[in-house]
Amino acid sequence: MNFPIEKFKGIETPFYYYDRKLLNDTLDTIKKELSQHQGYHLHYAIKANANIEVLREIQKAGFGVDAVSGGEIQRALDAGFDAGKIVYAGVGKADWEINLGLDAGIFCFNVESLEELNIINELAAAKGNTAKVCFRINPNVGAHTHANITTGLAENKFGIAMEDMETAVKAAVALANIEFIGLHFHIGSQILEMGDFEALAKRINELQDRLEEQGIKVQNINVGGGLGIAYDDPDGKPIPDFKKYFDTYAKNLQLREGQQMHFELGRAVVGQMGSLITRVLYVKHAHVKQFAIVDAGMSDLIRPALYDAHHEIQNLTSTEAEETYDVVGPICESSDVFGKEEKLPACHRGDLIALRSAGAYGEIMACQYNCRKLPKAYLM
Ligand SMILES: *Cc1c(COP(=O)(O)O)cnc(C)c1O
Repeated sequence: MNFPIEKFKGIETPFYYYDRKLLNDTLDTIKKELSQHQGYHLHYAIKANANIEVLREIQKAGFGVDAVSGGEIQRALDAGFDAGKIVYAGVGKADWEINLGLDAGIFCFNVESLEELNIINELAAAKGNTAKVCFRINPNVGAHTHANITTGLAENKFGIAMEDMETAVKAAVALANIEFIGLHFHIGSQILEMGDFEALAKRINELQDRLEEQGIKVQNINVGGGLGIAYDDPDGKPIPDFKKYFDTYAKNLQLREGQQMHFELGRAVVGQMGSLITRVLYVKHAHVKQFAIVDAGMSDLIRPALYDAHHEIQNLTSTEAEETYDVVGPICESSDVFGKEEKLPACHRGDLIALRSAGAYGEIMACQYNCRKLPKAYLM
């Protein structure tokens, strides 16, 4: 990536830099690959990055939104997204969040329990409204990813167990203020093995067969998101292989007549276009190590501390011979480490450092621990 270093002058570090061109190239690729398939739709998972300028680009590309809270529904509406393209999942939807979805007229609620279904029915009845509902089914399909980001195993808190699917659908059909419109799934995040998506597709085929035997028709299949990005090769693979991803579903999931297929990608849409830009404060020569202490910390980018994630680290200033550093932040936690034994061009106070592939689950997860300022973000 060619960083516009001249434009960084005068911007206070740390900050997020979002590459507008890469974002738009990624959106164009998704649009092109989606259009190869009949009835395929994308709802961008807004929790990955809810920066308003980023959202406007995604909205302009014509996609919908996958929200997991009332705040996200509101942010999507503020960014100009069509309520009719918003889907809303979450194991614990509060009454005000359900009411917001009903008032806005969102495309559907992805319902995760019968208890929730009954509350949505009551709240919709109170408004003389009908809620469109998909059931989030827990497919008991594993994903080859970090344990904290698998969501589709029977032990996870998400969704309705497969055994209970027919009961749930029949309950929904019997409720006056609920319209049952489909099935929803999401097995996890940062998945790079297409076999995981293939397993989900095959499980959905079985579930569809079961429903068909009972004469139950399903209009919409939503397979969630989860496509991963190449954290170890942001320049070699700036755009994920959307063709392979959509083709995997096209090949393995048997859509029934007229059925619409929905995707909820987050990370794959915005991950590679973002970098956290930080400055070296001190190079500390300790007895066994050298530390490059930077002004960004886990409060700005928590993924390394939370998921053992690694973001490629690049010195944008120095071109000297490489030395070895632990790159650490200023926060009072031992887990505030961005990289150990990193080989970087010799670092000096004031050097600009880029933490790559930070467009997803970066800015949005920032917090003010240690009374720090929230990082700003610039789309340029
Ligand atoms: C987080 C989430 C997504 C998006 O996951 P990515 O790995 O960012 O693609 C999609 N659907 C649901 C329900 C989610 O919770």
